[in-house]
Amino acid sequence: KASVMDGDNFDYEEMEDSLEKSRAKSALEALKEERRKLPIYPYREELLQAISDHQVLVIVGETGSGKTTQIPQYLHEAGYAKRGMIACIQPRCVAAMSVAARVSQEMGVKLGQEVGYSIRFEDCTSEKTILKYMTDGMLLRELLGEPDLASYSVVMVDEAHERTLSTDILFALVKDIAQFHPDLKVLISSATLDAEKFSDYFDSATIFKIPGRRYPVEINFIKAPQADYLDAAIATSLQIHVTQPPGDILVFLTGQEEIETAEEILKHRTRGLGTKIAELIICPVYANLPTDLQAKIFEPTPEGARKVVLATNIAETSLTIDGIKYVIDPGFCEMKSYNPRTGSETLLVTPISKASALQRAGRSGRTGPGKCFRLYTAYSFHNEMDDNTVPEIQRTNLANLVLTLKSLGIHDLVHFDFMDNPPSEAIISALELLYALCALNNSGQLTKVGRRMAEFPVDPMLSKMIVASEKYKCSDEIISIAAMLSVGNSIFYCPKDKQVHADNARMNFHTGNVGDHIALLKVYNSWKETNYSTQWCYENYIQVRSMKWARDVLDQLAGLLERVEIELTSNPGNLDAIKKSIASGFFPHFALQQKDRSYKTFKHLETVNIHPSSGLAQVLPSWVVYHELVFTTKKYVRQVTEFKLEWLKEIAPHYYQRKDAMRVLWAADQLRLADVMSLLRLAADGTLL
Ligand code: ADP
Ligand code: MG
Repeated sequence: KASVMDGDNFDYEEMEDSLEKSRAKSALEALKEERRKLPIYPYREELLQAISDHQVLVIVGETGSGKTTQIPQYLHEAGYAKRGMIACIQPRCVAAMSVAARVSQEMGVKLGQEVGYSIRFEDCTSEKTILKYMTDGMLLRELLGEPDLASYSVVMVDEAHERTLSTDILFALVKDIAQFHPDLKVLISSATLDAEKFSDYFDSATIFKIPGRRYPVEINFIKAPQADYLDAAIATSLQIHVTQPPGDILVFLTGQEEIETAEEILKHRTRGLGTKIAELIICPVYANLPTDLQAKIFEPTPEGARKVVLATNIAETSLTIDGIKYVIDPGFCEMKSYNPRTGSETLLVTPISKASALQRAGRSGRTGPGKCFRLYTAYSFHNEMDDNTVPEIQRTNLANLVLTLKSLGIHDLVHFDFMDNPPSEAIISALELLYALCALNNSGQLTKVGRRMAEFPVDPMLSKMIVASEKYKCSDEIISIAAMLSVGNSIFYCPKDKQVHADNARMNFHTGNVGDHIALLKVYNSWKETNYSTQWCYENYIQVRSMKWARDVLDQLAGLLERVEIELTSNPGNLDAIKKSIASGFFPHFALQQKDRSYKTFKHLETVNIHPSSGLAQVLPSWVVYHELVFTTKKYVRQVTEFKLEWLKEIAPHYYQRKDAMRVLWAADQLRLADVMSLLRLAADGTLL
């Protein structure tokens, strides 16, 4: 017995519904139209033919030509998905997520259904998924469970020129799998023209070139070197904004922190420009960018306004932002560097290579003639920059890689088919570390501990810490700490005008000088007690989104713990147990204090300082274990916890030897008497080997 009202309602909803549908339909039509305009589109048939003719194909095309978004769709339209999923492998999480989102729109499906993505700690796929965008690291992990990649019909290793560690390893593994899996298609796609190298590696695979459309780019160098590139980049952006015709600006910076600083300064300075000057929309782009901000990058710039994109290397080739006419290139990027002797890995701001500089400049000439402002001299470009970026495999800690290869059953690392060989010292020190962590036995085979460690998608020292928590019955606390550590250094924030309040709030978690790890645990647990309250985060100057991320990571770690059959146990009152678990993974990062407030690392006698953000920066305990080393103005250690010398025997009797204790005594002339005594005692009573 429907009343008139009901009827009205019904009609109204139906109308809304069909309006909505037709809106969606026309949006889809518009996207289809856009797809047809991409440089790759005219080559669709030819490309599909080449893929059908060859098992391995190297595809080269200018950034923005449509490789990442279109090729998987073409393959799907050609029926490849019937035989298995189509994987598109990306070196960066943000790229995998953002491209998957775009492709799902183009196909008119919901993200996570037919089109999904899988990145570390987040799986946005379902049984329906046929196009899967995933990071190189994730495919490596999947290989552990499915060594023949049977559920895939095509693996497209995208952004091959990035040469990340995981991509390099995938090359070798995929090449091998292709030999006994003739139905698997392997595509290697890259933005640079140096495709011969890939082709050679894949036994002279055919190269398919997608001709780009490129407009001329005017290159400007500066006359004399700049003291502060950030300042110069901001000044240049404003100058372009005020003096140059419409067109968006892309500025390459090195990391999140720098981007946030630049954003703040730009906002401040544009406020003073007055109403005669057009609006400047600022868009940050970096690795951990929250999803809601990711969408903003691609929104078209409104009429009369100008967009300035502040991006890391990610905008070099991984993401294409339309409408860029001006590029500002300060000539730096943040890069990992590794010292195999000390085992320390640091992020350093490093000059880019010529190849990078060319890619960056190219971003301005995609849709029309562009301009690139290089904040370095022509002399530096020609004489000081390397031709190409050194592949990651030659400048990183290989412990994680060696552990993964060992769990895949690959033991002969010397004869492994690397595209570029890693330095042999790096392999040796990786083996040494894994042995010290008890992941390998003395004949180099994976132990039970090692097998368990390999299940966790984190670095070996961290996974060892997790596995060791079983013994100390505090796995619950330890995975919370591990989750918080994996969020990075974006838990606390400190608004400039509320610095004192923010500092006080932060130091509250350090009551009792518990150390940074346990402080992180307290932060997490307090948040949990408020039932994950956002308000609580605001009050304590804590980033909600970092906390949510930590919660997701924690869920995953809890699942993995179950998989390796470690019981979830809590031992909250026993801080020593928690510290011992941490030290069980991080004992190679063991340092002792000197009179001048600096520290010396026990194994390699490097001089380091506790980072000012640490809760122990003023406390300076004699012995500490640290999470990571960063190199800014000095060598700083971050996330620090106090450690007792007596624990060494229990935790790492095989790692530190009497000679290490003696060397420390010898080298560290600044030691306090009490420490000299404990070291002598340690060396004398046979605690150490
Ligand atoms: P390639 O992989 O060859 O560099 P892509 O397939 O990534 O090229 O990009 C093709 C086009 O799709 C570009 O014009 C780019 O701007 C657009 N595009 C890619 N991702 C997105 C996104 N998330 N939102 C909007 N447009 C996008
Ligand atoms: Mg791409």
